[in-house]
Amino acid sequence: MFERAAYAVSELNSKGRRIQESAPVGRSEFQRDRDRIIHSGAFRRLEYKTQVFVNHEGDLFRTRLTHSIEVSQIARSIARRLKLNEDLAEAISLAHDLGHTPFGHAGQDALNECMREHGGFEHNLQSLRVVDTLEERYAEFDGLNLTFETRSGILKHCSKENAVHLDELGERFINNTRPSLEAQIADLADEIAYNNHDVDDGLRSGLITLEQLEDVPLMASHLYKVKSEHKGLPERRVVHETIRRMINTLVGDVIANSAMQIKKHQIETLADVYAAPRMLAFSAEMAEQQKAMKAFLRSNLYRHYKVLRMSSKAKRVIIDLFTVFMDDTRLLPPQFQAYAEKDKPRAVADYIAGMTDRYAVREHRRIFAIEEVSE
Ligand code: MG
Repeated sequence: MFERAAYAVSELNSKGRRIQESAPVGRSEFQRDRDRIIHSGAFRRLEYKTQVFVNHEGDLFRTRLTHSIEVSQIARSIARRLKLNEDLAEAISLAHDLGHTPFGHAGQDALNECMREHGGFEHNLQSLRVVDTLEERYAEFDGLNLTFETRSGILKHCSKENAVHLDELGERFINNTRPSLEAQIADLADEIAYNNHDVDDGLRSGLITLEQLEDVPLMASHLYKVKSEHKGLPERRVVHETIRRMINTLVGDVIANSAMQIKKHQIETLADVYAAPRMLAFSAEMAEQQKAMKAFLRSNLYRHYKVLRMSSKAKRVIIDLFTVFMDDTRLLPPQFQAYAEKDKPRAVADYIAGMTDRYAVREHRRIFAIEEVSE
């Protein structure tokens, strides 16, 4: 085994699991977390959930499953090179989107709107809810009983109002301290992954063009180099080669800049990590370029009229389902009815959040379509 930095999360400095279990055999505690996440039902459903494009639009677009795998690959590369806990970075990355609703951000916004009077809906909190309570796989406990550090990494953001209702996990949002470096890595790897794959998917869908991207500095410099080094290369390969180089540049920048920050702030222990400012970051110059890329994607892809039409349809599906289940909980599947007696809005939100894109569409049709629907 290669050497880990003293400030990496390890079994020695871990706060452990909520319910004590015997030590795993032949794998680390964090590998066990990763394995539990991969075996969960919510993880499998990521295959049919999307971020920008709706699931049935094309087989080549990213889903939340392939996105999560890309995030974990990038996170592991960064963790390894910074001598951090690669397994923890992997576990957090694979779990980071488990709480997402169907239909990406449009679905999350719609469900949050529906839940406004009932504590709101926030996908980070929902991811935690999935691993802490909703997964029913173990005889001895609800949820997956993950380590504190994996749970803390999954909870990327949390309002102070919600944080007070959490156990020790909420403290960092109240005291304004940092999560582990491994959690910080997963956070950045998420950003690197989606910016790059959204460029790729956006181009493939034809909603954005290569010419438009020539005005985005991060893309332009690599694109120019690829084109001049490989004259006559077909456009799809130009795109892949350019994106490959962008990811490498971003990852390299994060590693170099973060290593420098860690040294500068004399980080020596995990306690130092928690108390210090955020260490994992792009250099100032790269952060600017990333910002420009994000702004480009926001105005040209996420707000493209065709994407907005899908989002509007998606929102309607979510709102319709929420309304109908709130009106009559007897329409819910039995396992959600029992919980609905205790907390109706949360039970309805849990049911809807767990749906895949296509399941939500089918459920909407089953409930609202007048014509005969085959199961
Ligand atoms: Mg993500």
